[in-house]
Amino acid sequence: MSVIDELTSELARLPGIGRKTALRLTYHLLRQPAAQSRRLAETLVALTERVRPCDRCFNLTEQPLCPLCADPRREATVLCVVEEASDIASIERAGEFRGLYHVLGGRLSPLDGVGPDDLSIGALLARLGPEGVQEVILATNPSLEGEATALYVQRQLAGGAVRVTRIARGLPVGGDLEYADGVTIAQALAARREML
Ligand SMILES: [Zn+2]
Repeated sequence: MSVIDELTSELARLPGIGRKTALRLTYHLLRQPAAQSRRLAETLVALTERVRPCDRCFNLTEQPLCPLCADPRREATVLCVVEEASDIASIERAGEFRGLYHVLGGRLSPLDGVGPDDLSIGALLARLGPEGVQEVILATNPSLEGEATALYVQRQLAGGAVRVTRIARGLPVGGDLEYADGVTIAQALAARREML
């Protein structure tokens, strides 16, 4: 396989990029100064080598603790539980939430072989006592799997001293947090309910 074909296939694996776009990007990279392509390559290497999960919340970071966990102004008594680290960016964009996060690393999906042990649920339970958490807000996506994941986590927490809430269904069903605008996310957080 030629280098051109190789890069085109790699780019075509990225979400939202078809074969045609991948080929266009490859030829664009060939036309630009070599130094620029080298910078892109080095950034990609740095991304895979330097970015790691936060020791506390599993957000992605280059430090042992992510900037949110390291910020003393955040309210450590409220945890917002999300599926992916990218969901944190969506909620932060809304600018309303002042607590900390916990990234599960996915959602329960028996068909794909993802069970509770594949998510950071144990680490979540272990944080509650030592960190003095008073409320856990379940902000998994409003999809079938996201709901099932929220229900599972809620059951693990039931009977404990921690208040468990679920973000409101202002978000379109099946829609990801990623695509919701800041106002919708802020409303879904404000209208959160106790899970029974
Ligand atoms: Zn963190």
